[in-house]
Amino acid sequence: MDNKTTCNHIFDLAKKDYPIIKNTVLTFIDESHKFYDKYCGYSHIILQNNWKNSNDYRFCDIEPIEIFIGVQFENKDIKKESVVISLLHEIAHSTNQHYQIKNKKTFIDDYHGTNFYKHYADILRWAEEKKIFKLTYGGKQRFTQNNLQRVDAFGIKSIDIGEILL
Ligand SMILES: [Zn+2]
Repeated sequence: MDNKTTCNHIFDLAKKDYPIIKNTVLTFIDESHKFYDKYCGYSHIILQNNWKNSNDYRFCDIEPIEIFIGVQFENKDIKKESVVISLLHEIAHSTNQHYQIKNKKTFIDDYHGTNFYKHYADILRWAEEKKIFKLTYGGKQRFTQNNLQRVDAFGIKSIDIGEILL
């Protein structure tokens, strides 16, 4: 399976278990696209503004519109494991709530905070259970926030982070 076929297949499986993304569009991009960066993923979401407050943060529901995933770089396929983990990262954004941290009297977006990494770990556990992808980098610590941040920072670099089980 090429990168696009693999991603479409994973996205279909995710739609079954996460109905919030059932109408979300998956779009493949290359480096000419404005959303392309070294992490090769982007989620277009719309905030629902039904904020719920906690002590030092607040969160609201989202409507996920579109996920953009880079599958090629300089006309070469990006390593499939890197593409798949980017897709799972974006699925985590598109199936989570949106968080903001209190900063004095205002709130600032918290795209990659503790709440995100907890949910991202859940998505990676789901992928492992469904025999889609197993994150191996980090071993027993693979689902911790520190390890997942390290994995995310690799971006499209060709590093052994896990195995495709499909
Ligand atoms: Zn992200």
